Amino acid sequence: DSAINRIAAGEVVERPASAVKELVENAIDAGARRITVEYADGGKTMIRVTDDGCGIAPDDLALALSRHATSKIDGSDLLNIHTFGFRGEALPSLGAVGRLTITSRAAGFEGAEITVDGGRMGEARPAALNSGTIVTLRDLFFATPARLKFLRTDRAEAQAIGDVIKRLAMAEPFVRFVLRDVSGDGKGRDVFRAEAEQGDLFEALHGRLAQVLGREFAENSLPIDAMREGLHLTGFAALPTYSRGSAVAQYLFVNGRPVRDKLLTGALRGAYSDFLSRDRHPAAALFVECPPTLVDVNVHPAKSEVRFRDPGLARGLIVSALRHALAEAGH
Ligand code: ADP
Ligand code: MG
Repeated sequence: DSAINRIAAGEVVERPASAVKELVENAIDAGARRITVEYADGGKTMIRVTDDGCGIAPDDLALALSRHATSKIDGSDLLNIHTFGFRGEALPSLGAVGRLTITSRAAGFEGAEITVDGGRMGEARPAALNSGTIVTLRDLFFATPARLKFLRTDRAEAQAIGDVIKRLAMAEPFVRFVLRDVSGDGKGRDVFRAEAEQGDLFEALHGRLAQVLGREFAENSLPIDAMREGLHLTGFAALPTYSRGSAVAQYLFVNGRPVRDKLLTGALRGAYSDFLSRDRHPAAALFVECPPTLVDVNVHPAKSEVRFRDPGLARGLIVSALRHALAEAGH
């Protein structure tokens, strides 16, 4: 059984950054307002996510680590569309391929802690904690040396963790994020920090994008807000005068979760075709909200792939909304 768990785990956890993604998404799902992520050696030796969310009651700790156990509602939950069909996989997977300790305290309960080490679960025991949850993952892939070999340099893995945090930070502007490298002497060095934004969603998003993509982007971008056949598009897109030599700063979120989809690059190219040559790329952070019936989630839990049932509809909405915004801005 533990061998099966380790194989399945490889599907969910490809590298330290995918573990960070799962743990931070859990913290977000738990309603956290402050999330701190620490890592050492590119996340290979240690990842720790601390949140001030709802916590886990002592009796539920062992359950949270069991395969297919989820406290969350089914795949029709808009927020959780990214794990549709893969509910309750992350914690058991991480416990199968590393040494996982969860310390948690839910309102009205004492704190408690449990450890799973290479798939072997210990007993829950009392632990001191004010509230929220601390998940520590040590020695990722120690139980699967073949996977360990495929990890890149500490620097490359740390970079991938940073990318994951930045995407999630864009999607959750009201949450405070701190990312800290505690390699070496353990004193720690803040790699990224974003205070909780204030105001309405557009103000908050604008402030957060200034933090993540830079003040220059925020000051040279247009707010987008458009609707078509059940798809609601919001976000910010750069003015043609603020473009880049590559498409790296193009971000798409569907129902609050980051997705990678070439559709965005194509749509942006279409929208800016009158203003930009093919080697210039506008920065953009766009958010689509839609009923889950309008998207397909790729049946691979480690990938953030969402396919629109009607890609033409999504593309058309993005192109027309951006052209409209550019025209309004005098382009
Ligand atoms: P899923 O997120 O799909 O439910 P996970 O394996 O990631 O599956 O988590 C299992 C369960 O553990 C969650 O459903 C939730 O009840 C609980 N849990 C995990 N992380 C946290 C957290 N940071 N705060 C509160 N509860 C958590
Ligand atoms: Mg989860």
